Amino acid sequence: MAEAAKRAGRTDKPVLVAVSKVQPDERIAQMLAAGQSVFGENRVQEAQSRWGETFTKDRKDIELRLIGPLQTNKAEDAVKLFDVIETLDREKLAGALVKAAQKIGRMPRVLVQVNTGEEAQKSGVAVKDVSAFLTRLKTDYDIAPEGFMCIPPVGEAASPHFWLLEKLAKQHDLKTISMGMSGDYETAIEMGATHVRVGSALFGERDYS
Ligand SMILES: *Cc1c(COP(=O)(O)O)cnc(C)c1O
Repeated sequence: MAEAAKRAGRTDKPVLVAVSKVQPDERIAQMLAAGQSVFGENRVQEAQSRWGETFTKDRKDIELRLIGPLQTNKAEDAVKLFDVIETLDREKLAGALVKAAQKIGRMPRVLVQVNTGEEAQKSGVAVKDVSAFLTRLKTDYDIAPEGFMCIPPVGEAASPHFWLLEKLAKQHDLKTISMGMSGDYETAIEMGATHVRVGSALFGERDYS
């Protein structure tokens, strides 16, 4: 990461989001012991059991980021647990988050997920709708996102998507750009990512069996 930042002539320091989903407790304990303090999870329930139960005492020292799709019926749990929700992508969810935040008394920071590949099955706001969505978030929900995240289509070069996300962030004067995973975090950093979400390259392969 440091080398990629240097190659790009960057003086800021991109943030490593350690994606701990599915990883066994001992690997997470090792990562905590090594001083890692920012973690990403893609499912609310799994994150609750990991950071609300197994690693409760470590929770206060880490920043926890939701990087997977969020259903409105889980909004309240997500607002309770996460510091940042990276996957805001529809008005219905914005409404659920605001309602949950009022009830609980805290509002996580948010990013807007952009569907840069215009994939039908993928969540995220279409590129052409981003401007209008940001306006609606501000006027109707009083939500000011910190930036954008994207997950480029599998099997395609990621760089055009990274380029697009960086351009959008600049256009809208937003500072946070979450892009890049194990296979392409260096490219993402060279193209302006402020946050890279890395799982397997950090912890080892996920064992889904
Ligand atoms: C799982 C996941 C990652 C990490 O993937 P790796 O290839 O293991 O680095 C990053 N972002 C999102 C949204 C994910 O769901």
